[in-house]
Amino acid sequence: MIPQPLVELHGWGRASGTMSHLTQIDSVADAISALRKSDHRGVVPRGLGRSYGDAAQNAGGTALDLTKMNRILSLDASSEPATVTVQAGVSLDHLMRSLLPFGLWVPVLPGTRQVTVGGAIAADVHGKNHHIEGSFGNHVRALDLLMADGEVRTITPDGDTKTLFWATIGGMGLTGAILEATMALQRTETAYFLVDTDRTADIDDLMERMSQGDENYTYSVAWFDAVTKGRHMGRAVLTRGNKAAVPDLPVKLKRDPLKFVAPSLGTLPEIFPNRMINKATAKAFSTAWYFKAPKHRAGELQNITQFFHPLDMVAEWNRVYGPNGFLQYQFVVPFEEDEAFRRCLEMIVNSGHLSCLNVLKRFGPSNPSPLSFPIPGWTLTVDLPIEQGLDKFCDALDTEVVGAGGRVYLAKDSRLSAATFRKMYPRLDEFLEVRREVDPTGIFNSDLARRLQLNTPATGGAA
Ligand SMILES: Cc1cc2nc3c(=O)[nH]c(=O)nc-3n(C[C@H](O)[C@H](O)[C@H](O)COP(=O)(O)OP(=O)(O)OC[C@H]3O[C@@H](n4cnc5c(N)ncnc54)[C@H](O)[C@@H]3O)c2cc1C
Repeated sequence: MIPQPLVELHGWGRASGTMSHLTQIDSVADAISALRKSDHRGVVPRGLGRSYGDAAQNAGGTALDLTKMNRILSLDASSEPATVTVQAGVSLDHLMRSLLPFGLWVPVLPGTRQVTVGGAIAADVHGKNHHIEGSFGNHVRALDLLMADGEVRTITPDGDTKTLFWATIGGMGLTGAILEATMALQRTETAYFLVDTDRTADIDDLMERMSQGDENYTYSVAWFDAVTKGRHMGRAVLTRGNKAAVPDLPVKLKRDPLKFVAPSLGTLPEIFPNRMINKATAKAFSTAWYFKAPKHRAGELQNITQFFHPLDMVAEWNRVYGPNGFLQYQFVVPFEEDEAFRRCLEMIVNSGHLSCLNVLKRFGPSNPSPLSFPIPGWTLTVDLPIEQGLDKFCDALDTEVVGAGGRVYLAKDSRLSAATFRKMYPRLDEFLEVRREVDPTGIFNSDLARRLQLNTPATGGAA
């Protein structure tokens, strides 16, 4: 273990940076030793830093860089379902590349492959298939968790350890450091997808088509225009698809149906000014994106990068927002609150805050985790450059979201207040109860934990 001096850490949004001791962990012994040496500022586990806000940083304390614990430990390809056991620092990119030759597939994929298994579990990430297959934690069978007392405990979704297990799913690294995970896998014949694309006229058209058609597709997501006002507000490009089978492929691709296609277009240089996204560029981008899509196209064959991870083709694309960075606001409101959902969209479009990357999905049922983000409902994500008035605007959105019984996603957040967070997550006390039991002095700690008062006992006293 190499202890490091203080370095600035921030999330993918490149805002809200603070200084932490970033300590590289190469083994379980390293992790235990780092924990024992930690001072009152504590430790936070860190993966690939793809959460947008302050979840994986710990001002004045230690951040455990777990990305070197990146071995695939065992694979049982013959069981049903197949399972894999990995160290928590394995990235989904590495895991997918290793599993595809066996015809095995990671069941839940976020919008980038550059996240660790530990980070995916701690945020309980979701993909385009939440309405069918739930979130990442639904597929985890066991975890090895390094706990605040220095012990490593194996925990599972059922039985004696289930409360700690489900608090760790979506627990943002605050119940301990995940060292190993066993996950169930899916089978696939190919690394391709059959995709239907539809351009929708406005938000009502989009919501209606998704409500009626999503069940026919394993994967569904819409990019929507968050700039155009009036009659076409919320117009979108809806893409939905299913895994392709070998007979669906042209002869050329049948020779290697499981080939992983991941082209790279290079790294974005650090040259962009703060106001790169302005009215003119946002309008031009949104119009071009909308009209470049076909009005309706059925059964197009797409590879993994095209369908899941187009953003991964450009490394460090987050630099486009300039040195001030940006904030990703993702919220969900229950299906029955679709009017509130429309009001939020209207607020965004009319706010003067400009977002080009806007994603809308439908979530299916939640899992048992008290802090997991997905609830059945509409979820919307916008990328907003940091500028004057943004915080106030997001506060107004929060009010609407809370009023509708919705919530904001912690993996994207850097600004929620503790009071608003509590209103959004009604099962918070269950989580705090577990945390009090397994980590009474708050050894696992982070900027997010301090901001949201996750070290405060459920009874209201201060820790
Ligand atoms: C381009 C892009 C697209 C994205 N799309 C989606 C999406 O579609 N759906 C979605 O759900 N998310 C999405 N995300 C968010 C991302 O999947 C999550 O933030 C994920 O947690 C990042 O993993 P990481 O390894 O980078 O973890 P980090 O960002 O380093 O850490 C995230 C959290 O996990 C904790 N953590 C990390 N490793 C461990 C460990 N070993 N043990 C315990 N806790 C740990 C940290 O303490 C922190 O609280 C996206 C992010 C980007 C940049």
